[in-house]
Amino acid sequence: MIRPILAASLAAILACATVACSLAEADRRVNFYSPAEEAQMGTDAYHDVLAKGKRCTDAEANALIARVGQRLAAVVKTDQQFAWEFNLLESSEVNAFCLPGGKVAVYTGILPYCENEAALAAVMGHEIGHAVARHGGRRMTQGVIMSGLETTLGEVLKAKGVSETNANLSLAAFGGLSQVGVMLPFSRTHELEADAMGLEYMAQAGYDPQEAVRFWQRFAKLGSSGPAFLSTHPQSGDRAQKLGELMPKAVAQYQAAPTKSGIGAQVPARYRTVPAPAPAK
Ligand SMILES: [Zn+2]
Repeated sequence: MIRPILAASLAAILACATVACSLAEADRRVNFYSPAEEAQMGTDAYHDVLAKGKRCTDAEANALIARVGQRLAAVVKTDQQFAWEFNLLESSEVNAFCLPGGKVAVYTGILPYCENEAALAAVMGHEIGHAVARHGGRRMTQGVIMSGLETTLGEVLKAKGVSETNANLSLAAFGGLSQVGVMLPFSRTHELEADAMGLEYMAQAGYDPQEAVRFWQRFAKLGSSGPAFLSTHPQSGDRAQKLGELMPKAVAQYQAAPTKSGIGAQVPARYRTVPAPAPAK
């Protein structure tokens, strides 16, 4: 499958290059998956996660997730067919995600950092932004392109008589470069795009958008040794700066929202404390 896919990807990239479009435009164009395929993959993966995970049984916490989710879903405009689901999983993992098709999961481990409903809306809105912008399909596409290019490079090096050891070293260097040069800038672009979308969603849903800034500040204090959610959501000066730039519009959207909740309800007391790290064994 790699060759036709690679050809298609190169054609898409070259087509883009000829009109000198930006990297962001190239990113938007190159996606091998249809929305229906993404939604099917998202739904399958979601059911897998739910089957393996432990559903939270706390009624108050579940009601909070459902309320925020429904209010966000009501303002999300997309031509993709989302069958929204919102679930809270009991886990110390500090994480949340939205898979294609509108399948949202929040882990109880992230609740202490949220502190309140508006910050939870910032997190869920950001994750929904990734799904609406179809970043998952683009990530997978990038993976297919990179693996296709690496396979081709390996064949070229071998054909040129480069020894297997040297070919492997070249491939390793290429793998590293692809991570740093292609994957990270793309995901940074996706992060900022999801931030912007999430901020609008939360504001339109009637949550004070300033709480998004406070949430990311609370989260940034955890530092680089923080949880998985932080390592996949890199902190940067860009983020604070971009949120600041977007804030006047978000505040106006918040002011125009039919129902305004400010920061909303507090997270239930039992989920407000960050658990102490497990003792080293
Ligand atoms: Zn993100």
